[in-house]
Order: sequence, then structure tokens, then C-alpha cells
Amino acid sequence: MTFSSVVEKFSRNLPLTGEDFLFLLTGLTGAEEARLYALARETALAQFGNRIFIRGLIEISNICKNDCYYCGIRKSNSNLTRYRLTREQILSCCEAGYPLGFRTFVLQGGEDGAFTDDWLCSLLKEIKSRFSDCAVTLSLGERSRESYQKLKQAGADRYLLREETADFAHYQKLHPRCMSPRRRQDCLFTLKELGYQTGGGFMVGSPGQGPEHLVRDFLFLQTLQPQMVGIGPFLPHKDTPFGDCPPGTAAQTVRCVAILRLLLPKANLPATTALASLDPNGRQKAVLAGANVVMPNLSPGEVRDHYSLYDHKAHSGAEAAEGLRLLQKQMEEIGYTLCVDRGDSR
Ligand code: SAH
Repeated sequence: MTFSSVVEKFSRNLPLTGEDFLFLLTGLTGAEEARLYALARETALAQFGNRIFIRGLIEISNICKNDCYYCGIRKSNSNLTRYRLTREQILSCCEAGYPLGFRTFVLQGGEDGAFTDDWLCSLLKEIKSRFSDCAVTLSLGERSRESYQKLKQAGADRYLLREETADFAHYQKLHPRCMSPRRRQDCLFTLKELGYQTGGGFMVGSPGQGPEHLVRDFLFLQTLQPQMVGIGPFLPHKDTPFGDCPPGTAAQTVRCVAILRLLLPKANLPATTALASLDPNGRQKAVLAGANVVMPNLSPGEVRDHYSLYDHKAHSGAEAAEGLRLLQKQMEEIGYTLCVDRGDSR
């Protein structure tokens, strides 16, 4: 196998094998690696130009019934001030974001039982009636098909649900027994079937992960063909069982972004906050490797620290408007610009 034979498969839209992905992750020379990033960047430029889509992230609750070993808002973490935004608070976040140019709002939270279908549907209808030119993305974990369907009918456009790791054995090492990787993957196929723009994704460098596990994610995403993929490095949170584990690396994360861009040329790929938390230039590096989305935080200032998935989460400490100006400056430095656009999947 050679680098050019794998690149050839990408360009002819042929499926890659596990060996192909493993080679990209572990077998490239320095020069080939640079070529990989350049190809990924060119692919993104051909699809999106130098425009970066922005999504306003609203962290609506840190209450969660799950106990994922890596996550700071896991049920067993008693060292956390729990909060849930009210409907009015969420709508105020949207009101603040709209004039700044946000045309997508991402409602993300733990699996909080208070988010009934009725409550969410009513909220979705209100957001869509006040901001009719905006898209709404949900990221609220696993729900039933019926629930996903109702939320879709009420106006949700997109859903983010990372598979976390597509390797079932590795998944079981990151989650308690009662959580099922098959159920999570089934949710993703259901979301796609229901017509959501669907986002999968995984953590890079989670405890016990090797390249062979990442290969499973690429193969899974090649089958799923999601419209979005979010990836970021694993970062330890002190109040979790993995609090002393080493973080993933920025280099491996950026490499995965580049591979994903070549695998899914049209997909919306964010340069994630986790990557920016690990490396101050992480967002720029990801964009230069093919990412085309950033997700600035629109949550009320007083809750941002409580939505602590991992330690040392990056935030400018600034108001949304100021944060956005800094981000725009970072993007301009590398020849890109933020745009006012829903940024739907193409
Ligand atoms: N409850 C929702 C949202 C989860 S938080 C859901 O189940 O999808 C969003 C993402 O943060 C998760 O999918 C996970 O990949 C990531 N995350 C959680 N803990 C993390 C950690 N310690 N380091 C890096 N990413 C983490």
C-alpha cells in the first residue's frame, strides 16, 4: 500500500479498508503527512471556500442520568453545581446570538429527565417562530425513535450524537455496563432515517484507545455517511474515574480531522472547543486540516463553568460578541472568515 493508492481511493470515491485507515494513522512519512493536510484543506476550500460556519452553543443543562467514566457532568460527580436553563434563559441566549450573526443554535446538555418531548417541542416551536431563518441542532443524547420524530416535527433540523468510539469493547471500557454501543449507533441510523442532518464523532486519545480503535470509527462513519462529524481530544476531568489519565494529542486529533475531510468531503466538521482547550492554536490547525465550523459558546456566563465535561475548558472569559471578534481575528490570520449562514449540509 502506498499513500498515492489511498489518495486515489478518496478521489475516486471508493471505500477504504481498515488497513488503508491504519496506514493513514500510523504509516505516513512527514512529507506524506503534510500532503494529507494540504489535500484535506484543498477539499474543504473546494466545498466551502474560505468561509467558516458558526454555531451558537447553548449548554442547556448539566444534569445527566448517565455515568460515562470520562465525563465531568456524569451522574456520580457530586462535586458539581447542577443547573438547568429555563425556557426564557434559552430564548434569551438565542436573542443575544441572532444579532451577532448566529443562524444555528445548538442546544446541548446531559440526559436530563426534565427535557420531556412536550417541553422540548414547545421550545423548538418558539425558537423557530422567533428565528425563522435559523437552524436548530439538538445534542441531548439517546432518545426513542418516537421522541426524535416529534422533535423533528417541532422544528429540530440537526442532531449531534457522537458514537464516542465505534469499537464495542473499547466503548464498554469507557461506559458502565448499562450503556450500549449498539443502542447508540442505532440512534444514529434512526436520526438519519428521520431526515435529521446527523452528526457522529469520537474522542481522540481516550483511555485505552489505540489506532486500531480509531480505524473502527472511520469504518463506521464511512458506513453511516453522517452530515456532520465532531471530534476532539479526550481531556481528563479530575472528578471522574479517568481524572489521572493522559489527554489525547492535538496532532492525532488534527490528523483525524484531515482523514475525515477526505472521507466525507461535504460534511460539516467543527474545530472543537476541546481541541482549542488543549492547544491555543487548535482551531486554526483544524481549519487548516479541513474543518469548516466553529461553535462559540452562547450559554449565560454564570453557567459556563458548571458545564465542565473536562478540566481547563477554553473560554475567552469574554462576552459572546467579544469572543466572536477574537475568533474572527484568529480565522483572518489564516485567510478565513466567519460567515452569517445557516450552513446546512450540502
Ligand atoms: N449528552 C449528550 C451531550 C454529551 S457532551 C450526548 O450524549 O451526546 C458532548 C460531547 O463531549 C460528548 O459526546 C463527548 O464526546 C465529549 N466529552 C465528554 N467528556 C469529555 C472529556 N472528558 N474529554 C473530551 N471530550 C469529552
